[in-house]
Order: sequence, then structure tokens, then C-alpha cells
Amino acid sequence: EQKVVLITGCSSGIGLSLAVHLASDLSKAYKVYATMRNLDKKQHLLESVTGLHRDTLAILQMDITDQHSILAAQRSITEGRVDILVCNAGVGLMGPLEVQSEDTMRGILEVNLLGTIRTIQTFLPDMKRRKHGRILVTGSMGGLQGLPFNEVYCASKFAVEGVCESLAILLQHFNIHVSLIECGPVNTNFLRNLTKTELSDVSVEVDADTRSLYEMYLHHCQKMFQNAAQDTDDIVQVFLEVIQSPCPLFRYYTNSALLPLSSLKLTALDGSQYIRAMSKLIFSVENADTPK
Ligand code: NAD
Repeated sequence: EQKVVLITGCSSGIGLSLAVHLASDLSKAYKVYATMRNLDKKQHLLESVTGLHRDTLAILQMDITDQHSILAAQRSITEGRVDILVCNAGVGLMGPLEVQSEDTMRGILEVNLLGTIRTIQTFLPDMKRRKHGRILVTGSMGGLQGLPFNEVYCASKFAVEGVCESLAILLQHFNIHVSLIECGPVNTNFLRNLTKTELSDVSVEVDADTRSLYEMYLHHCQKMFQNAAQDTDDIVQVFLEVIQSPCPLFRYYTNSALLPLSSLKLTALDGSQYIRAMSKLIFSVENADTPK
């Protein structure tokens, strides 16, 4: 019997690659419901799957900020069940906190946090009833450690960690496995799609120190993406490991090079070491121009 997989945010990036990969499985082991907010963007997905995939792929509209749209997608699943739910859709936000409007901040939390919760809420009762299911969530290193100029994004991703860890404890009793796939920088449209504050555009006064630190951060970020970003194929491999594991773990890290910094939070529980190390990495002058 095919495993029914529903993935959110499949018009680009990680969601798109995962949908293509699973739908192209030669043994047709998966029936993939690739969902996206805007069906006008389905062309890229359709072009990426070769041959006929009527029995392994269906594309559905689903905006995770809209409960009606989630329920409509759920009703369109002909098998009447989801075995593997992949909560992947997400958006970023970068810039000094003081310039972010309430609407912008709500928008990020609405997608990354409430959208993820809503999606899980919708499919959870059936998984519980069937005592069977997997929930995979695209997490971020920004959900494990703070990053300057990413306060609201990190808040949303930290919050997702809290949701997932809490659920994982309970859902063991229902044979439902929750897993977070923690990603560092990935070559996707994420940077292009995220809301990035251009200091020239904002009406709020931003002090000179913040401006120059923001420039340094943007430079660091660009370097990180140039030198350390993974391809979506690498991320898909980790998702496959989770999907194929008989007993998946709670957290997976796609890029082990980023772990030492993160682990400083555990070696010094007062937080000081991590904060110092991250600040040095991003803001020290000697790091500003040396490629990593
Ligand atoms: P992406 O921008 O290519 O993909 C995000 C997808 O989410 C897009 O297809 C977008 O249309 C969709 N989306 C946004 N709002 C939505 C909504 N309301 N309803 C449904 N779909 C919506 O970027 P990506 O890198 O593939 O991002 C996927 C996930 O990976 C996100 O959760 C992101 O936070 C996480 N992530 C990405 C990176 C990175 O560097 N690219 C790093 C860590 C974590």
C-alpha cells in the first residue's frame, strides 16, 4: 500500500524537491499531495516530474494561514488519510526589530507558527484514531539559536520547536513520530522570498551603529549562503532518512558544521558563550572579509 504524504509549501525550494523526489520513486511507494498557496506556481513542479505521475502525485491548493483551505485540501485526499505530514512552508524576515510593523510581524508568526500548528491540528485527530502517522517539520538553526536581525523569524522557529517537542512526548502514546529537520542555509528562493528590510526605505529612524551592524550581518549572511549553503537534494536525503527509518528520532541536523556553535548553548547554560561566539563570528572586523 502506498504511503500518503502531504507536503506544504511545494511551489519552490525544499518542498518542491521533496515532492518531486517522492513522486518519482520507481516503486511508486508514495502518493504525494504537493500543496501550495498559489496554484499558478505549479508549473515548476510539473516540469520537474518526468513522465506521468497520476498515481504518485496530486497538486492541491493549500494556504496554511487559511483553515478553510486546509480543510478543503484534506477533503480532496482520495485515500482519506495522511500517513506522513510534512510541515515545510515558511517565510523569513530580516532587519532591525524597531522598524518591523505589527502587520509584518504577525504575518511571519501567522505562517511559521500558527500555520504549522493549524496544519498539524487538522490532520492529528485522524492520525491519533489510527494510531499511526509521522509529522515532519522543516526546522531551522534559527529555531535553536538566536540570530541578530532575525528576532521575529527566530521567535517563530523557536516556538515551532516548543510545539513539536511538546507533541512528541504525547504522541509517543499514539505511535505518531514527530521529527524536526533542522536546516542551515539552503539554496532556495528563501532569501529572495523573505522580507528584507532595506534601510533606505524605512521611515523609522535607525541609529548609525545599528545600520553598520546590519550591513555587517547582511555581509555575513551572504557569505554563509555562498560558502555553506546546501542544495535541496542534500536536505531531501535527510527527509528520506527520516521517512524510511523504522523509528525516527526527534531531531535531525542537515549540516553538522553548524553544530559546534549551537552546542555552546548546552556547555554554558547561562548563554554567555553562545552569544559571544555568534557575535564574534558575525561582527568582528577580522571576520568581515575573510571567506570561510
Ligand atoms: P522557499 O521560499 O523556496 O519555500 C517556502 C515555501 O513556503 C514557498 O513555496 C512558499 O510559497 C510557501 N509558503 C509561504 N507562505 C505560505 C502559506 N501561507 N501557505 C502555504 N505555503 C506558503 O524556501 P525554503 O528554503 O524551501 O523554505 C522551506 C522551509 O525551510 C521554511 O520553513 C524555512 O523556514 C525553512 N528553512 C530554510 C532555510 C534556507 O536557508 N533556505 C534555512 C532553514 C530553514
